Formats: sequence, structure tokens, C-alpha cells
Amino acid sequence: MFNNQGQGECPAIGIDLGTTNSCVAVWQNGRVEIIVNDQGKRTTPSYVAFTPTEHLIGDAAMNQVPRNPTNSIFDAKRLIGRRFSDPLVQSDINLWPFKVIEGPGDKPMIVVNHKDEEKHFAAEEISSMVLMKMQEIAKAYLGKTVKNAVVTVPAYFNDSQRKATKDAGDIAGLNVLRIINEPTAAAIAFGLDKMALAGSISKRNVLIFDVGGGTADVSLLTIEKGVFKVKAVAGDNHLGGVDFDDRMLKHFVEIFKRQHKVDISGDSRALRRLRTACEKAKRILSSATETTIEVDCLYNGIDFSPTITRAKFEELNMDLFKKCIEPVEKCLADAKMKKSCVHDIVLTGGSSRIPKLQQLLQDLFDGKELCKSINPDEAVAYGAAVQAAILTGMGNEKIQDIILSDVNPLSLGVEEYGSKMSVLIPRNTAIPTRMESKYISAFDNQTSISILVYEGERARSCDNNLLGKFKIPVTPAPRGVARVTVCFDLDINGILNVSAEEKTTGVKRKITITNYKGRLSNEEAERVVQDAKRFKDEDATHVMKVKAKLDLENYAYKMKNDINSKILGATLPFTFQKKFKDDVERVIQWSIEDRQVVALKPYQDKLKFLKRICSYIRNNDNHVMAYRWRAKNLSLGVPNKKCDN
Ligand code: AMP
Repeated sequence: MFNNQGQGECPAIGIDLGTTNSCVAVWQNGRVEIIVNDQGKRTTPSYVAFTPTEHLIGDAAMNQVPRNPTNSIFDAKRLIGRRFSDPLVQSDINLWPFKVIEGPGDKPMIVVNHKDEEKHFAAEEISSMVLMKMQEIAKAYLGKTVKNAVVTVPAYFNDSQRKATKDAGDIAGLNVLRIINEPTAAAIAFGLDKMALAGSISKRNVLIFDVGGGTADVSLLTIEKGVFKVKAVAGDNHLGGVDFDDRMLKHFVEIFKRQHKVDISGDSRALRRLRTACEKAKRILSSATETTIEVDCLYNGIDFSPTITRAKFEELNMDLFKKCIEPVEKCLADAKMKKSCVHDIVLTGGSSRIPKLQQLLQDLFDGKELCKSINPDEAVAYGAAVQAAILTGMGNEKIQDIILSDVNPLSLGVEEYGSKMSVLIPRNTAIPTRMESKYISAFDNQTSISILVYEGERARSCDNNLLGKFKIPVTPAPRGVARVTVCFDLDINGILNVSAEEKTTGVKRKITITNYKGRLSNEEAERVVQDAKRFKDEDATHVMKVKAKLDLENYAYKMKNDINSKILGATLPFTFQKKFKDDVERVIQWSIEDRQVVALKPYQDKLKFLKRICSYIRNNDNHVMAYRWRAKNLSLGVPNKKCDN
């Protein structure tokens, strides 16, 4: 057994970077601990907000959404690794209160106004901010800087989405030890739970049904003697709780229109408030059969409080629920497993709590009981923390023998003559893997051969997703003579590297794709990393300024109370007492009105000054105090407004 936690080294963490919420966990003291955030919560909203003065992440960002909808960013995971022209991106843009524009290379860029300046962010930058927050939460809990992390992604995330998530980790300054699939991580949580109960479990076929905020994933695994072997994955990387919220939102927008003859669909603030109420109602409908949403002054002072039944919610979403179930059959077929051979059907992800989804799944398995033993909000981070401990050698005998074997979700290949998809790595191949294939020139005297890399299951390459392209120079020769060997290297994170070699003349030319579509270029990545550092510094400065403001206010309020209760200044002449009280009140008012918390020094100076006055008064050094106080008071910089008390 190898455990070096006591040697001052910080353990590696597991981060579930969710569409709606994120969760961080660590293996410590022989078990997984879910780390609570500064609000005492075990999950943190994946929200980032920009205000005229600060940059907020997590609960603080989510709580101010109604006041600042256009600069509050959420659902970045639905954008990450996608192109602006993607129809799914286009449909999401219509529903988000914040603006998304087309950036270079068809990359979607989120537009916000921060400190009176328009700023553009890529989705990976927003995700990196959420990752940074999770890193800080872990640091506060562990009392040490955390560098190493395992980050999870939906199993059905494609190559660009995985790379962009890895980039987000790099921007956050994390050392991403591994990207693992969310259902596989949940399976670890389930497997450990089972092992703990049953000592060690004999071979089990386990289906993980993971429906979160933005993705629906299905994974079929076998778990045997600590080996977690994924047989097949299937899913939809753009389907989840957010879509169910959208349906309810559209329903209520229609009802409002019918009742009040106004269309609120153009009002981002009203929509945001209504959406929040819908999400809450949706959760309630998982346990109640009916609920009422209450939104005061939704639009033009009109209160809105309609009722919705569970049956109506199910009717609004039935096609989406069925779409969530479809991957289950595909996964079983791909794994060539009969549904009767599945021992456990495990639910995870917040949306797996929806009763109708559970019923559809149970019906598919002919009424088999579903396993709800793992916490759907925490299981993924739990599994990621276990994997992080294994990778850093910090685990104990309970987990040291765990071996994960995962698969790639989509077939990977190149375009052959006639737009044919030539698959090098079929979907559901165990990763890491390396495959090679040889191609010949299609025309006489070709000077180069284009390599177009695709992912997807369609026979025509153009119907699949183009990952990147490059040209390899070849020696001119008759058609079919020039030969190129293409090599696909799929790493343990499910990330692809492609190289090609010309073999015609025996001269080896090797090229590795770097210009993947939608990925940040080297210069952009550098800029983004610098921006992230700047944000971190600015945030730290802001925290210092706010602390100075609070210190000053706390001190001034205490002085005011002490003066009122004659603990302080009772021996002062009356006029001085009055002046003294007024000045303290002026300081308090100045501080309260300075919402922007522009600079640190004025707070520190004023606190220093107040402390000095206090000490003069306490030492009963009234005359000196009075003299210095008057003199110094001029430098207070607080306008002499009339005070109320
Ligand atoms: P996750 O990505 O796993 O954190 O899941 C978040 C999604 O789960 C959000 O869309 C939530 O609205 C949804 N969710 C959480 N709890 C419930 C619940 N009790 N019923 C229905 N949906 C829920």
C-alpha cells in the first residue's frame, strides 16, 4: 500500500463539470469526501456572471441572474467544442438571455459587458472559470493548493468537446490527469458501494442511465473483481433537464399570452425569472402530482401563478423522455447483450429523478427494479475522486486494484475517394488504441494527398462531423502509386491524434493534426490563459477591497454603538461628541454608498484614522485627540453630508 498524504502533498481531486451544477470530491482518510462549497452546499452552480465591478462564479453568480440576465452565463457545456453554425447551438442561442456571436473559425463566442467594456469569451473560458472555482473550493477545504484533477465528461462527448474540456482545465491552471466518462465514474461509485456491501462482487452487467442538465448518456459495463470494463456507450450530448425546462417555459409563455395578450418571449429578464420558476416546479413534480409556480410582477406588474400537473409536464416532454430511452436499446445492441442479462440498472444525474423517465426505463426492462442507491448529484465526482487517487497512488487497498477500461463513443475515420467514410477506429473500441490504414493517390501526378478526419456513423463522410484536415506532400507518380499511411492514436482520454507518412519513396513525412476546427489556436490559448490569470488577480484584489470595506464598516458601527451607549467618548465635551458621532456616521454612509468598491487604500486609511481616534479617546488624551482629529479629519475625503441621526 502506498499513501503519501501525510507528507504534505495535496491529494488529487475529482471534478464533475456539469451543465447545471458541478461537484468536487477527494479521496481522503480512506474514503471519498464530497467537498462543500463556501455556502455549505455539496454542488455548485456552473454559472459565471460579470457585473460592472466584479466577476462572480457559482452561487453568487446564480443568485444575481434576475438582476443581470444578459451578463450571467450558464449552460457553457452545451456550447463547448461546438461550432456556431451547429443548428443545436442556434436553437440554444434563441433561448439564452446572453448573446452569442460567431467568432473566428465558426467558433461561438459569448458576449458580455464587464466593467463597461464588451468582452468575448469562448465556452472553454467560461468552463475554466467554473473549474477554477471548484479548485478554490477544494483548496479551502484541504488547506493546500490543488493542482491535479480528474475531470469528467459525458460518455457521448465527441473529440472536439473532450479537447475543449481538456483546454478548459489547462486554462484553469489544473493538471488534468485524466478525462473520464461520467457514467463510468458513476459506475465506480456504484461498484464500490456494492463491494462494500457484499465484500467483493461476482461479475455483474451494469447499465448506467445518466441524465443530467444537458446530456443523456447510457453506458453498459461489466464489473468483475475490481475491473470496470465498458462494453458500449450511447447517448445524446444535447438532451437533458434544460430541454425539459424549455418545454415548460414555452408552455407558460403561451398561457401568459392567452391570459394577458402580451408576448414576453423578447423580455430576457421575465424569461429568466419564469425559467427559474419552471425548473423549481419540475423538481417538485418529481415527488408531487401538481404544483403552482409563483412569479410576482412577471411583466408590466402582472403577477403570474399558474398550476401545472405532473401529467401535463409529462405530456409536454414525452418525445424528449422517449429520446432519452432510445440510447439504452442502441447500447444493448452494440454490446450484443440481451436486456435480461443486465443485473443492475443504475440511475444517476439530476434528471434521472423524473418518475416518467424511470417508468419508461423500467418498462423497457420488463418491470425490473431500478437501482437508486447512489446519489445522482454526487456519484460522478465520487468516481472521479477514486480515479484521481488511483492515478496519484494515494488510494488504499479498497481501490488500488480498480482498473477502468473505457471505449470511444463515435467511429473515427478519414474521407476516401467519392466521399466515402473509411473507418479506422469503430465506435465502442477499447481505449487507448492505435490504428493504421494505407491510402493511395487517386489521380496521376498528385503532389499532395488531403487527409480529412471525420467522426460519426454515416457512410458518406460529408454526413459526419469533420474534425480537421491536412495535406501531406507526395512524390508525383501515376495514379495508385503514391502511398500514404494514416495513423490514428486515440489516447486514454478519448482524444485523437492523427499522423500520416508518405511511403512511396521511402521518405517519411509525418504530420500531426493541430488545427482542429473550433479549437483555440496557440495564440488564442495563450491570450485566454493570460486573461484567466488576470481575472484571478482581479478577483483576489476585489476580495481584498471588499474585506477592507467590511472591516471599516464593522469598526465604524462598533464605534457608533459604543458612542451611543457612552462606552466611548463619555468624557468628551458635548460638541466634540456630536462632531465625533457625525463623522463616524459619514464614514459609514460613504462606505455604504461606494458600491463599486473602487479602491482599497481609502478604506484602509479611514480605518487607520478611526482606530487612532479611538485610541486617543480611550487614553483620555482629549486635547491632543481633538487637535489631531480635526487636522486628520480633513483628509478623510468624506463629503460633509448632513447625517440623519
Ligand atoms: P446534473 O447535471 O446531474 O447536476 O443534473 C441537473 C439537472 O437535474 C437539472 O436540469 C435539474 O433541474 C435536474 N434535477 C435535479 N433534481 C431534479 C428532480 N428532483 N426532478 C427533476 N429534475 C431534477
